Amino acid sequence: MMQIFIPLNFLGFVYREMKGALANIEKMFSILDVKPAIEDRRDAGNLVVEHGAIEFREVHFGYNPDRQILKGVSFSVEPRQKVAIVGASGAGKSTLFKLLFRFYDADDGSVLVDGQDIRGVSQDSLRRCIGVVPQDTVLFNQSILENVRYGRVDATDEEVMEAIRHAQLDGFIAQLPEGVHTTVGERGLKLSGGEKQRVAIARAILKRPPIMVFDEATSSLDSHAEQGILRALQEISREQTTLVIAHRLSTVVDADRILVMEQGSVVEQGSHAELVAADGHYAALWRMQQRERALDAVPISS
Ligand code: ADP
Ligand code: MG
Repeated sequence: MMQIFIPLNFLGFVYREMKGALANIEKMFSILDVKPAIEDRRDAGNLVVEHGAIEFREVHFGYNPDRQILKGVSFSVEPRQKVAIVGASGAGKSTLFKLLFRFYDADDGSVLVDGQDIRGVSQDSLRRCIGVVPQDTVLFNQSILENVRYGRVDATDEEVMEAIRHAQLDGFIAQLPEGVHTTVGERGLKLSGGEKQRVAIARAILKRPPIMVFDEATSSLDSHAEQGILRALQEISREQTTLVIAHRLSTVVDADRILVMEQGSVVEQGSHAELVAADGHYAALWRMQQRERALDAVPISS
């Protein structure tokens, strides 16, 4: 019996994000026979996004009935704001994203986009309005050009190239043997975590959805790669409502608001300056990362 070692959760994410565009994934799903957990309502209309406001209202949620993960989370994001979510691993940050995409429904409370409860709209229309840059981007065994085009399958080569430039992938591509036509992915050129995220950013730029969510890479991005990602992120977040799960606080300093999550609750929120002044969880986290940075900068003597 063939075994497939891919986290189903993640596959679901990719599948739903790219549904319709990807025969490969469709095929994989028919092999695995996985059905979407959430069904559209019979009378589901289309989500209409004019501004891109997001609101979580007293959201309670658990993957299993015996363990509550989100314990009454409330916050709102104004149109075109950039809001960062920080907190320890396991606090429930990615779960917020999964609810926003409606991979799961809240057990209690509601999630609204431009005032519309997302349970009342079709999942397709919801996901068309949201772009995602996941922690780990899947690349297909095709050229870089085609990989970026998944952001919007009917985009012209010109448009794809422009997205590549905005995502600051062009410098990297210039060094490849066949430029944008170089095959990447499992059987092609392997990209680093940071390069893959830039492909995801280019896809998002091409899609230009009114709402962007970004799960920042934790892994070994050096500070040069980090700066590149940050600039590319600014590029996509200027006109859009942006939610960022931030692992490095250097990413959130310029956010309009920062939500600090702990064990399924938002325990603090405010701007960077407000939270540092409040001298609570965020301030402690900030001091810790500053110390780590200082240690990183100390040259190793032999
Ligand atoms: P964060 O993104 O803040 O690290 P998550 O939202 O991924 O945290 O996870 C919050 C909690 O939910 C964790 O304890 C995690 O183990 C649990 N969890 C996440 N996904 C699932 C799942 N699919 N089934 C059961 N538990 C899950
Ligand atoms: Mg997470």
